[in-house]
Amino acid sequence: MTELKDIKGIGPRSLSLLNKLNIYTVEDLVTHYPFRYDVLERGDLTKTEDGGHIVIDGKIESVPILMRFKAGLNKMNFRLVTASGVVGVSIFNRAFLKSKLEVGTGISVIGKYDKKKNVITASEIKLETLSNKVKIEPVYHCTSGLTNKNLATYINMAILMCGKEIPDYIPSTYIKKYNFLNKKTALNIIHNPSTEEKLKEVKIRLKYEELFAFMLKINYLRMENKKHNQGLDRSIDRKKLDEFIANIPFKLTGDQTQAVEEIIKDLESKNRMNRLLQGDVGSGKTIVSFIAMIANYLSGYQSALMAPTEILAVQHYNNLKDLVKTSNINVELLTGSTPKKDKIRIYDSLKNGDIDIVIGTHALIQEEVEYKNLGLVITDEQHRFGVNQRANLQNKGLKPDILYMSATPIPRTYALTIYGDMDMSIIKERPKGRQPITTYIKSNDEIKDVLEMMYDELKQNHQVYVIAPLIEDSENSDLATVNKLKDQMTLAFGKKYKIDIIHGKMASGAKDLIMQEFVQGKIQILISTTVIEVGVDVANATTMVIFDANRFGLSTLHQLRGRVGRGSAKSQCILISSTDTKRLEIMKQTEDGFVISEEDFKLRGHGDLFGTKQSGDMEFKIANLRSDYKILLQAKKDSKEYLLSEDSNTDFIKKELIMSINNS
Ligand code: ADP
Ligand code: MG
Repeated sequence: MTELKDIKGIGPRSLSLLNKLNIYTVEDLVTHYPFRYDVLERGDLTKTEDGGHIVIDGKIESVPILMRFKAGLNKMNFRLVTASGVVGVSIFNRAFLKSKLEVGTGISVIGKYDKKKNVITASEIKLETLSNKVKIEPVYHCTSGLTNKNLATYINMAILMCGKEIPDYIPSTYIKKYNFLNKKTALNIIHNPSTEEKLKEVKIRLKYEELFAFMLKINYLRMENKKHNQGLDRSIDRKKLDEFIANIPFKLTGDQTQAVEEIIKDLESKNRMNRLLQGDVGSGKTIVSFIAMIANYLSGYQSALMAPTEILAVQHYNNLKDLVKTSNINVELLTGSTPKKDKIRIYDSLKNGDIDIVIGTHALIQEEVEYKNLGLVITDEQHRFGVNQRANLQNKGLKPDILYMSATPIPRTYALTIYGDMDMSIIKERPKGRQPITTYIKSNDEIKDVLEMMYDELKQNHQVYVIAPLIEDSENSDLATVNKLKDQMTLAFGKKYKIDIIHGKMASGAKDLIMQEFVQGKIQILISTTVIEVGVDVANATTMVIFDANRFGLSTLHQLRGRVGRGSAKSQCILISSTDTKRLEIMKQTEDGFVISEEDFKLRGHGDLFGTKQSGDMEFKIANLRSDYKILLQAKKDSKEYLLSEDSNTDFIKKELIMSINNS
């Protein structure tokens, strides 16, 4: 396989810039698809307004006159004959083009038209005329030091040099069936479309390919699950389980009870459980997972609960510890920052069966970890993990039952497709006694109001979260930072209340300590970045203040807002922003995660439909799960048919995709 550095024109410097864009291989490069296209339509001088943007072509009429200025700047002037009249053209800093701009040469010019002077100040000159009336220009995500033009050049060079080497994940049967173009041609067109029709056609082909590969993995997992679906033979002591449930300090909602029943049925069935528990933020998924682990314990097996952050793992650990304190169930915490000596002890006791329930981060699925009789694995906030990790986890225990939890509000139809390898339980109902959270939008001039609102809550012994987009000040930004806010808040409240900060760059021991103090009410104002976005649960915190709220996606704001309104007291969320308030209004209108993600989708594209920090394998390069749903369904059907066919055993496609699951 040709490497990136072997592509003509790519040197060490451009290589590292490409890496910045997550481009490491030739395949990454040629699938760095344009995120939009500019359609250049051949303009007409008479129809262009003064100061208007124009794309026009014509023949050079006069020898370009070159002027050189200080500091290496230069300017060139010449006349151009176009279909709508003669026009002057001037362009800066293109002296190197002079020899090519001979009289009589056909070129096209893109720039700004000064009608009075009849001069176009060109931003670009192309040494060709627009072959059609319209030219479609790809626009790429770039990075400082790497221009759109550089990218286009490298991509086209790569297609030219090794376009044939790029794997095509569509099996030949379907290429024929749908009359698809071959991969190389498709790549060529997506990066250099001549017409909109061609572009549309080729987009469908590339989307289908991407979705086919995705669905093939999902279908493969489903088939593997079915093959190895022999579950554990167990019976659960219902009486003891009911006792545990009766001792929970609140009554389960109907939806929670139903989810518990579904899970128990799965645990007791001869087949392995593979279930997704879905419910909006604050709907109370955690307790359901605790009950599942107790049920599993009562049938004699070990459980593992995996959370995406340490803060969350610690919280779950403390909460469960509290619930089982009168029993002799042995619960342990295992995260990346567990001291080595404790780790060794925990590994030992997991292996010999002393530990009944282990809670942690992905440290739990590291190779060293061996279990005596793992019967249940739960992942919280599943959307933070991907399909690949899904597979990894399942390979761990003997035949553990699996429960995934996710707050990702996705419509059922999509969920059924992309989580097609799982069964689903859904919690819609919120715990009783919850009051709606009131959301306010305040401009940067109204900070005084905000401080007063905070003070009103603090006086009632409630706690407050304050969120900033950044940790430290930086020279080229005025955004709020955790450090700056700490000073401001200390000035305003420091005499009476304890204020502290938490963010992702802190050592995890320090984070735990702060979080513990906040849970215990020793800290009244917690200033943070979005590290507390998922899962954190402190019922006495009633106010969420988010600075520079316009910097966050609606789904993130929804998750952050979900940190309050967890107790019976009235809660509020204050979004501070002087811009983008129309988008933020949506937050005032609804607390429904579904509606918010749909709106986010409309406004920002699909990137945020499934929560902000989507796992790698649900990020598509060209496909869009929602608007390409029809293609997704077709790809689902075809990939299944393909997996069952003889072809899939012989060609590379299945092998390659399965390998990508197992290697991650
Ligand atoms: P999420 O679904 O976002 O993970 P949690 O499991 O963190 O939600 O639950 C949110 C809060 O609601 C927790 O403090 C939890 O103890 C509480 N809770 C859960 N179920 C109930 C219930 N049935 N009645 C009252 N409070 C509940
Ligand atoms: Mg949760």
